[in-house]
Amino acid sequence: MLELDRVSVSYDGVPAVTAASLRLPEAQVLAVLGPSGCGKSTLLRAVAGLEPLAGGRVLVDGADLAGVPTHRRGCALMFQDGQLFGHLTVAGNVGYALRLRRTPARDVARRVDELLALVDLAGYAERLPGTLSGGERQRVALARALAVDPRVLLLDEPLSALDATLREHLAGELRRILRRAGTTAVLVTHDHEEAFAVADRMAVMRSGRVVQEGPIGEVWQHPADAETALFLGYARVLRGPAAAVVARAAGLAATPALAVRRSSLVVSPVGRLPGVVESARATPEQVRLVVRLEEVGEVDAVAPTGAHAAPGDVVHLTVDPHRLAALPES
Ligand code: ADP
Ligand code: MG
Repeated sequence: MLELDRVSVSYDGVPAVTAASLRLPEAQVLAVLGPSGCGKSTLLRAVAGLEPLAGGRVLVDGADLAGVPTHRRGCALMFQDGQLFGHLTVAGNVGYALRLRRTPARDVARRVDELLALVDLAGYAERLPGTLSGGERQRVALARALAVDPRVLLLDEPLSALDATLREHLAGELRRILRRAGTTAVLVTHDHEEAFAVADRMAVMRSGRVVQEGPIGEVWQHPADAETALFLGYARVLRGPAAAVVARAAGLAATPALAVRRSSLVVSPVGRLPGVVESARATPEQVRLVVRLEEVGEVDAVAPTGAHAAPGDVVHLTVDPHRLAALPES
């Protein structure tokens, strides 16, 4: 439905996005994940028609958008800071674009009610943005973006300004809302947890290029390379003999490099990999350890809360093969 075909964008001749290709089926959510400065916002702006293309094409339903101005593209944009009109009520903000289109007042009111119910803000219609929490403001901004039934909703780090607890909660809400509205959306984020929580597909960007793209579970289970794996939350990448030992303990075939999540190595009386605890830090969920394993070296591991594991202790680790990813040779 949305297709980017080798899209390139430059600023004064300096490439910001290089030959990015993506496909997004209707009613799905694509997360574009990458570190700050890798070109995510530039890519979104190119889709919206706010940056000219140095090369490639943006297509919606097979039609090339070259020459189609921003306001005719059917895209709605939403940013980190919502950018609500401070002097308008919540209802005034949500209905703004509909009134611009000279929609009859009764229809605007009905649609605003629907949208406020969708984002769980029924009863907030007459409030002013200044009286809302950050999370409520972002939900109003989302309702406003959805008001015009955009063909593609473009979300640029919509949760980044919120604190961690609220971000996690709203990520789940965002998924539910987009699902229910049947919206095709591109979500830009630098937070892999947010991408996992919201999206169906994921594209990983680095230095202006899309380095991997696919269904979210596939990207997560098969990172394209070590750098991508680390960006996706794997704690370490083991190579050579270290990769071989851990892969064997997990019952996997030998591999040149192995990405290991912290939670894949767990202290257990039945563990087969002996090692010595180098450091231990208790968290509410688990004890986080660094363990030195024979033939492997340092690894991250976890022990159940309350487990006694102090530096110098000998422990045994089990390996969860589902939290490992074999990487191609780089
Ligand atoms: P991200 O959203 O992933 O953080 P951006 O798309 O904002 O990255 O930026 C990608 C690159 O393009 C960066 O090197 C940034 O400095 C540069 N850039 C972004 N906007 C402009 C601009 N208006 N003029 C010149 N360079 C820009
Ligand atoms: Mg950005």
